[in-house]
Amino acid sequence: MKAAQRLVLLGGGHAQLAVLQALARQRPAQVEVVLVTPAPRQVYSGMLPGWLAGHYTEAQCVIALAPLAAAAGVTLRLAAAVGLDAAARTVRLDDGGVLGYDVLSVNTGPVQDAGRFGGGVPTLRPIEDWLARTTRRLAEASPRRVVVVGGGAAGFELALAWRHRLGAAAEVVLVAGASGLLANYPAAVRRLGAQALADRGVRCIEGAAREIAADAVVTADGRIWPADEVVLATGTVAPRWLQGSGLALAPDGGLATLPTLQSVSHPAVFAAGDVASRLDRPLPKSGVYAVRAGATLAANVLGRLAGRAPVPWDAPVRTLNLLSLGERRAIAAWGPLAVQGRWVWRWKDRIDRGFMARHRVGADPAAT
Ligand SMILES: Cc1cc2nc3c(=O)[nH]c(=O)nc-3n(C[C@H](O)[C@H](O)[C@H](O)COP(=O)(O)OP(=O)(O)OC[C@H]3O[C@@H](n4cnc5c(N)ncnc54)[C@H](O)[C@@H]3O)c2cc1C
Repeated sequence: MKAAQRLVLLGGGHAQLAVLQALARQRPAQVEVVLVTPAPRQVYSGMLPGWLAGHYTEAQCVIALAPLAAAAGVTLRLAAAVGLDAAARTVRLDDGGVLGYDVLSVNTGPVQDAGRFGGGVPTLRPIEDWLARTTRRLAEASPRRVVVVGGGAAGFELALAWRHRLGAAAEVVLVAGASGLLANYPAAVRRLGAQALADRGVRCIEGAAREIAADAVVTADGRIWPADEVVLATGTVAPRWLQGSGLALAPDGGLATLPTLQSVSHPAVFAAGDVASRLDRPLPKSGVYAVRAGATLAANVLGRLAGRAPVPWDAPVRTLNLLSLGERRAIAAWGPLAVQGRWVWRWKDRIDRGFMARHRVGADPAAT
């Protein structure tokens, strides 16, 4: 029987996993569902610093999308969106295909813009590329001088992971940017973060990078930081293919959404995670919020197919943020409060492993 409607899931990000799971539980009749993703797996960024530090294998940090799609009766299309025409309800793919949709659920995450540093700068995103590059790097010879550019959670955790991985003999520098280390976090977290870097001999430069090359970073004060490993961990922005799509965009370029996670301009389009920007209440771009949006995204996408009215997402005012410190210690941040210790790492480890276990279909001993 020919499907009456087509649902396209664009990107298998943290929120989309909940849509796949909902489809596996309750598959709407006469709906064809296609998951478009450039890779057959989703890398769970929460465990990446732990992978670099040596606490997890790669298999433990990735969610296989093919079994989830198969369990949900979803067709997997290995491609990336490069354009969207909201009026025609089509997505243009990098394999040359054009996919029509009746309902669209977007969770592609952000892209990284090296901006004035130019195209050749080694970036953290796409994460798959960084993972492959770093795996090769570690197989060749461990770097002796690492410079991480970006003082947000990702840069902070990666600098400390490198320190743990390489030991005290290596030099690790974190160029935290003009706004300083962990600028989006409360003072207590920033204090603990700065102390953690100092205790572990990671040099933190509270200034901007002026030039970045594969073998050195020049900071705004003119100092040159030679390196045999550089990564740019800042500058995530909304994907460019949203521009010209006809979808309403937020001032930050993200897909502008209502509290129901629907596009403010096109109600058949839903979006969650870092690609989306809620207009009524801008939320932090973070993995935690992407995960938490999943249940509402699933309910509203499936509801749309069934003709039900969407429900608003009651996004939490504050979330628990856990930052790993290289070795098996972590900082926990809740509102203005922050604590750190080994027990925090064990807590984070339990949460992360639990998240991965919930998205594993079938037994995979390598991934546990
Ligand atoms: C090292 C590191 C540490 C971090 N630590 C934290 C932390 O401690 N806490 C926190 O909250 N956040 C953290 N973050 C940020 C967090 O990773 C992001 O906020 C989160 O990944 C956003 O989730 P998402 O589902 O929106 O997108 P993503 O996780 O990026 O998932 C998007 C998916 O869409 C796919 N995709 C991409 N482009 C396309 C396309 N054009 N077409 C189709 N599919 C596409 C991708 O392959 C991917 O599978 C960290 C990030 C990194 C890199």
